[in-house]
Amino acid sequence: MSIEVGDVIRGAPNKLYIAGEFQDAAGGGTFPTFNPATEEMITEVSSAGLEDVNAAVAGAHEAFEKGDWCEMSARERGRILWRIGELLRANVEEIALLETIDNGKPIFESLYVDIPMVAEVFQYYAGWADKMHGEVVPVSGRALDYTLREPLGVIAAIVPWNFPLLLASWKIAPALAMGNTVIVKPASNTPLTALKLAEIAAEAGLPPGVLNIVPGRGSVVGNALVEHPDVAKIAFTGETATGQGILRKSADTLKKITLELGGKSPNVVFADADLKAAAAGATIGIFYGKGEVCAAGSRLFVAKSVAEEFIERVIARAEKMVPGDPMDPKTRMGALVSKNQMDTVLGYVETGKTEGARLRTGGDHAPIDGKGYFLRPAVFDKVDNNMTIAQEEIFGPVLAAIEFEDEDHAISQANDNPYGLAAAVWTRDVGRAHRVASKLKAGTVWVNTYNRYDAAAPFGGYKESGYGRELGMHALEHYTQVKNVWVDLS
Ligand code: NDP
Repeated sequence: MSIEVGDVIRGAPNKLYIAGEFQDAAGGGTFPTFNPATEEMITEVSSAGLEDVNAAVAGAHEAFEKGDWCEMSARERGRILWRIGELLRANVEEIALLETIDNGKPIFESLYVDIPMVAEVFQYYAGWADKMHGEVVPVSGRALDYTLREPLGVIAAIVPWNFPLLLASWKIAPALAMGNTVIVKPASNTPLTALKLAEIAAEAGLPPGVLNIVPGRGSVVGNALVEHPDVAKIAFTGETATGQGILRKSADTLKKITLELGGKSPNVVFADADLKAAAAGATIGIFYGKGEVCAAGSRLFVAKSVAEEFIERVIARAEKMVPGDPMDPKTRMGALVSKNQMDTVLGYVETGKTEGARLRTGGDHAPIDGKGYFLRPAVFDKVDNNMTIAQEEIFGPVLAAIEFEDEDHAISQANDNPYGLAAAVWTRDVGRAHRVASKLKAGTVWVNTYNRYDAAAPFGGYKESGYGRELGMHALEHYTQVKNVWVDLS
């Protein structure tokens, strides 16, 4: 790294960003954000209240109505989004470092995965800015009928802490590409990189008011955005219960809503699979991102005939993922985001043991020099699909291995869960691969791989994992509305 942590912290923006200005909260409130690896405070961040939310919505609404953004040529909008991508790449070390100290994820992940993908997402949607258009409809009678794809207005993006800037970009980039203005409510655990993005967007030429960032409590800021009549749409990622509350509340103003919620994704390994590759995939599937990943392959279904051998392989790999300093480029297991999250995960490990699953490795707190919310990756076997650790989202590095007898048994168990975000199948039988992929009730199915993402590939949930799709062309539907125009030609 060519930059110092101290310099990055001193330069970190920590004020609200509203209508093109960094500013204190009207009420003067702040909240601390901590480095989960050291338990030290990084900085105090301005905490938005209702007055600030109203100012942000007014600013975003005015910017939308003035048309500085939505009436700008679509190609020019695309150029600005592309430039944001370039500036993200130019500042990748600083932003990755901020993400790592705020979230606890290994610098390896933020430097080579998260922030490069944020740049990809902006540049992917830069390309779409001038490619969404309406059509001429062949109506009967003497009339010209055509459709316009119009932006919705002010979009509020409410994001979680596990991929703070990445999941924000999945909402901001398509929203801006289609001409909307945006307000971001970052998670209170990880507010810093969204604020950094505001600096970058301004440098790239985004007009004031088009992007606003309002850190603050979800129950205050998030709630006020959901209730505000001038917010046209909420794009939310977070817990299923929070999403349900947002959906109920949105009825009052009939907001458009997209929800990316929790998951309990099945990873199905057949006996004919390349077991070495599958073991690597199963390990990364659950332990990448400390398991704080909505699509984590937290339920491992293994064919009974190879179960013992396969689980041994996964254990050996898990034990190599030793928790370490997230700033060390060799670290692959960082610190969980907060003490609260760590305690939740430790609670699930205890529940797993109590309910009769067998803990084969890990699952204990492993502080470094007495500090940090580090956990050793946990592997349970002898898990029954009805146990709590197989049904509830843990959102931590805990794998539940479950055996199956045959293909039907694997599919019925895999689908026996309220969530449906992602799934994977490992087999060398191409017919089985496609058959199982079609039967798994999940928004994404990986075959002989895990955790693959691309800005062009749609992502989102079946069942209680939410609705709407992010990424790809499908996301654009959620940031536009269709206007139909009739012109009498008689
Ligand atoms: P939460 O639902 O607690 O929080 C998500 C965001 O919502 C945060 O910004 C939070 O603010 C805000 N919020 C909290 N309460 C309200 C409210 N009443 N009204 C409006 N906004 C509110 O989730 P976590 O941050 O704890 O994230 C973890 C969860 O997110 C996991 O369950 C995980 O599965 C899910 N997730 C899903 C993904 C997907 O793509 N499907 C991707 C990533 C995570 P604050 O931080 O201030 O509380």
